[in-house]
Amino acid sequence: MPPLEHLPGAQGGTDSRALFARIGDFLFAQALSPTPANFALAYAVLTEPASAVAKAIADRTDGGVRLSQRDIDELGLRIEQGADAARSAADGPDPAEILAARAQTQMAGFADVVVRMHSHARDFGRDLIASADAIERSRVEQGPSRLFVDDVARITSAMIDRVREAEQRLEAARSEAEELRQALEEARGDALSDPLTGLPNRRAFEEAFADRIAAGGSPCVAVCDVDHFKAVNDRFGHAVGDRVLRAIAATLAEACQGHFVARYGGEEFAVLFDGSIAQAVATIDEARQGISRKRLRVRESDEIIGVVTFSTGISAAASAERLEQVFERADALLYAAKAAGRDCIFSDGDIHD
Ligand code: GH3
Ligand code: MG
Ligand code: MG
Repeated sequence: MPPLEHLPGAQGGTDSRALFARIGDFLFAQALSPTPANFALAYAVLTEPASAVAKAIADRTDGGVRLSQRDIDELGLRIEQGADAARSAADGPDPAEILAARAQTQMAGFADVVVRMHSHARDFGRDLIASADAIERSRVEQGPSRLFVDDVARITSAMIDRVREAEQRLEAARSEAEELRQALEEARGDALSDPLTGLPNRRAFEEAFADRIAAGGSPCVAVCDVDHFKAVNDRFGHAVGDRVLRAIAATLAEACQGHFVARYGGEEFAVLFDGSIAQAVATIDEARQGISRKRLRVRESDEIIGVVTFSTGISAAASAERLEQVFERADALLYAAKAAGRDCIFSDGDIHD
């Protein structure tokens, strides 16, 4: 930032106030939040109208069109920011906030086009009525006049131009809306999947369970927890531990094809089965054997990791039961499986109060 005494208008309080008001007007007119970065942008545009940034903005805002977040991104508007703003930029903006801001700007853009079209249509109607009245008067007084017909042709041609312009703006807004829809879809996908294994995450599992209950189902919930996983991390490092988790996730997903397999958190996986508990036990046992048959090695060093196993608790939901209740039972069964020596499955009926 320039020193205070070099700011335009710093000498005169009135000028400073006027500049401050103009910056505020600019931000409100563009529906931009009064963030330090946007203040800096508005300051640059208003105090240096000949700069490349100011000209680019002027081009984009020509005809009363608002700046979109994309405009700002495209222009690479990284106007000198304060230390705090720079730090928060380094942390990276929240993608959900960016999408929400873009959606808001878009809605404002649509509203602008609609308001402008409404006002054009009103003017068009008023001009046409005035011309029709004038033609009628002239016809009564002195016969049809070429002048008024020319008037109508001029008004109609102006309206056609405006409709074309509105069509172009709507098309641009439509394609931006499509882009936004895709970005939102991707963001939703990200919010429901686990980046390490690519499996659905806990939230997705909760939604899938709720969907089944809402449809009147009574799914079985299997909770699988890797045995002594801490020892894998301790011996081979976290990165190798991550790879082991990916291998377990892939084997589990393959053995449980057609069922909903999620990484519930840490070294814990959860599977939803729509069929009977016996089928769920049989399927998980296939996965259990598949994993315990593998002899894992560290890719780079060929060092033997050895056998990795997991233990499972499985419980069937009663009709309209909440996930927490089913999960609590499955978790207690898992705990019993661990106590029984691990690498095994406990299901409803295997333990008694
Ligand atoms: P138990 O058989 O009783 O389940 O023993 P455990 O060692 O598997 O259980 P514990 O809860 O003591 O340790 C779980 C470990 O899993 C500790 C944690 O660091 C590790 N872990 C959790 N999430 C991840 C991950 O994403 N990557 C890696 N590499 N390790 C993880
Ligand atoms: Mg655990
Ligand atoms: Mg464990």
